[in-house]
Amino acid sequence: MIYMDSAATTPMSDAALSAMEPYWQREFGNSHAVYSAGQHAAAAIMDARKRVAKCLGCTPRQIIFTSGGTESDNQALASLALRRLGSGKSDGGSENSGLHVRNKIITFQFEHAAVLRSVERLSQFGFDVEVLPVFSDGVVQVNELLPYLTDDVLCVSMMMVNNEVGTIQPVQEVARLCKERGILFHCDAVQAAGHIPIHINDWEIGTLAISAHKFHGPKGVGVLVHQPNDYVEPLIVGGGQERGFRSGTSNTPGAVGCAAALEEACAHMEENSQSLWEINDVLRAGILRIPDSRLTGTADHSKRVPGILHFCFKDIDAQTLLIYLDAHGICASAGSACMAGAVQKSNTLVAMGVPDVWARGALRLSFDASITLEEAHRVCDVVAQGVAAQRDRA
Ligand SMILES: *Cc1c(COP(=O)(O)O)cnc(C)c1O
Repeated sequence: MIYMDSAATTPMSDAALSAMEPYWQREFGNSHAVYSAGQHAAAAIMDARKRVAKCLGCTPRQIIFTSGGTESDNQALASLALRRLGSGKSDGGSENSGLHVRNKIITFQFEHAAVLRSVERLSQFGFDVEVLPVFSDGVVQVNELLPYLTDDVLCVSMMMVNNEVGTIQPVQEVARLCKERGILFHCDAVQAAGHIPIHINDWEIGTLAISAHKFHGPKGVGVLVHQPNDYVEPLIVGGGQERGFRSGTSNTPGAVGCAAALEEACAHMEENSQSLWEINDVLRAGILRIPDSRLTGTADHSKRVPGILHFCFKDIDAQTLLIYLDAHGICASAGSACMAGAVQKSNTLVAMGVPDVWARGALRLSFDASITLEEAHRVCDVVAQGVAAQRDRA
């Protein structure tokens, strides 16, 4: 099997697996218990918190362990409504507080469903939500965004790396512009963590979501990073774990596995990135030799992660192509795995204005550094055959 769907999920690394192992049976204690078995678990979680914080450029107190990227995005955005309900206020902490009612939420059409459905719900709760399109190169243009950053904006939510096409967004710039204007900034960094450098505090990012299973950690574990004295409210209340921000008995193996995986990914980021670019080059050159094929998003290396490539083939049915690839031992997807089942139009491609005849033939190849150059060549060959087979039949 050649696994070309790393943006959907990744297998656990050996480091993560062995780091977690003691905490299922031997060190199973509840981290909130007073006896030493519980204290071992508490120490392991504290250690995991420190290591995750170090990788992301923030302090351990800013880390909230959650059940994944979806929960982290939900918590960051639902907090806006919870905070308003709780305090009767609606400003984002601006100097104009009380004078200006900040009620606008800005996000982008190519965000993950966890963000899009969250802001949709905020609009049902009375927030004024603006979902902006994205340029055809898949990168948010800061000067196009600027006019929207008016003093009625409460929050901007922008992802760091797009999960379908792999483009990197100008997070540092947008975070700074938001900060200057008293606007809250949430960043879905699920596809970025462990893949490109992140410096939360240097970049003054308000809240940030990551998910362990996207960087060879366990599924069902994520992190929401927040700023002290910020607006984050708990979604889940109960025993007051995670300093009250996320109740429920702590997932000791999950936190430990998340830390081990992130640490490993960050330690090998440079070398992984180099080999990923080599694979990327082979795939890109090979696939673009197919007639009527296009790379989706900018070709500028500095604005892309190396491990995600997205192509469109004119007059090709994506589902049929994926089945062909699967029959030849290749796992890939048309875009977001989150819309699995339904043959739905990709919101990212719609946002980028890709015409229907091309968007129907979408193929995302996402991979980690374990892919060999031989495998990359094989993928190119099989994709070319699959596309040709469909066109011959047409
Ligand atoms: C995978 C993904 C998520 C969801 O994370 P889960 O941990 O699977 O809930 C959110 N945002 C992006 C960009 C993703 O790629």
